[in-house]
Amino acid sequence: MTRSAFLLTIFYLSTLYHPVKGGEVFADIWIQNGVVIDGLGGPAYKADILIKGDSIYLVGTLTESVVATDTVNAIGKVVTPGFIDPHAHGYPFQTPDFKNFTSMGVTTIALGQDGSSPNTLELTQLFENTDTLKLGPNIAFFIGHGTIRNLSGIKYKKSPSKVEIQKMSHLLADGMAAGAFGLSTGLEYTPGRYSNQFELDELAKVVGQYDGLIMSHMRTENDATMESDLAELFSQGDYANIHVSHMKVVYGKGPERAEEILQLLDQKRGQTSFNVSADVYPYFASYTTIGILFPEYALAPNHYGTERNNRRNDLLKYVREKVNRRNGPVATLFGTEPYTGNTLKQISDEMGIPFEEVLVDHIGPTGASAAYFSMDRDLQYRFLIDSMVMISSDGSPTMHHPRGYGSFAKVIEQFVVKDSLLTLEEAIRKMTALPAQIIGIKNRGILRSGFKADILIFNPDRVHANATYDSPHELATGFDYVIINGKIDKGYGRVLQKEK
Ligand SMILES: [Zn+2]
Repeated sequence: MTRSAFLLTIFYLSTLYHPVKGGEVFADIWIQNGVVIDGLGGPAYKADILIKGDSIYLVGTLTESVVATDTVNAIGKVVTPGFIDPHAHGYPFQTPDFKNFTSMGVTTIALGQDGSSPNTLELTQLFENTDTLKLGPNIAFFIGHGTIRNLSGIKYKKSPSKVEIQKMSHLLADGMAAGAFGLSTGLEYTPGRYSNQFELDELAKVVGQYDGLIMSHMRTENDATMESDLAELFSQGDYANIHVSHMKVVYGKGPERAEEILQLLDQKRGQTSFNVSADVYPYFASYTTIGILFPEYALAPNHYGTERNNRRNDLLKYVREKVNRRNGPVATLFGTEPYTGNTLKQISDEMGIPFEEVLVDHIGPTGASAAYFSMDRDLQYRFLIDSMVMISSDGSPTMHHPRGYGSFAKVIEQFVVKDSLLTLEEAIRKMTALPAQIIGIKNRGILRSGFKADILIFNPDRVHANATYDSPHELATGFDYVIINGKIDKGYGRVLQKEK
């Protein structure tokens, strides 16, 4: 390049990025004096940020004078991208503000998880109504495997025909074409548990065609079957990007076991051109339907009442052993009425009958949801600090578990500030740029000019996850500003469409 061409380029770039009107830059919001953590993991640096409309206009040191509608003095605070929660639950029409998420700094959530999602028509309506919904955070949707299994009429069939699988593939392709980010599976639940490798691989091919992501709640999440769980997912990883949702190893112990599993993910990553990723939530109790304690013959489409009458003793034995392996009835904490806040042990004592009879005779596989204190702290910590593992909540506005209100605040409060397990920059990366890249959200998750203005301003020392198992619906505190699509006011989240 000649010197004059070079100077012309500089001149052109400077007019593009700094259109000076009478020596002044106009902006909607001017964030002054903050310490910027851009989301990419590098060291924090001092810079101002200008926001115009819904986008970041400039991150850097200002040389021109600025005229801004709003100014925010961020002195003594960090400025980061809004957090992206890759695995969340909830219903936009019921709780559009999703205050539980925005209060802990989450500005984008990924819904449609564990195999269950809106159908394509509902998705299209959500996309079309994105402005009238008055959403708190942005939402990215995944297509649920169970949902399209039901819609295509396969439901509980174990070996669907090729024609039926084709029908499912078409439904998935419709959803992807409408703007979904990928497929979610819930292989521990009905109807997902009835699928086989051929079916899952066929669907993976469709996801691959759209450069989407398969987020998998794997078949067991158990220590003894972890390798076969992963093998099933890895097979899909020959056709599309794959992801282990809320990674855990039930009954597994110690950081060495986590290390083995991370190495398997690494190996697969080395063998394919597709991404291999995972997320964890920062709590050691899971939360889901009580159905996971029951054997398949007690689950739909089998009739629980009949099976209970015919095989009551088998059922009692199965459930007793399963609960005992999962740390016993004190480690099962109910989160649904009329048992909310009580452990299985407490209910069993109160009723004066063995806990297995409470489950089999009084609750049944669809009668409750509960938290299960069955994860090993050291094992989960190893996952949590891994550079390829991102943070999720797996929470919702209504779930009786603190993760839906506390996860992202807890990472900062406990793992960064208190325990120094992660640097602040690394924690922020695992909650912003990394999930944006993995999910395929192209213009969020990094503080950079041209990106959408989803921005947090806070003092890390003042961030608190206030939710507990006893009181799980306490909002997190400490995020002074949560800016979404360039607006400080609430209600400007959007339903996101995957860019082609
Ligand atoms: Zn799940």
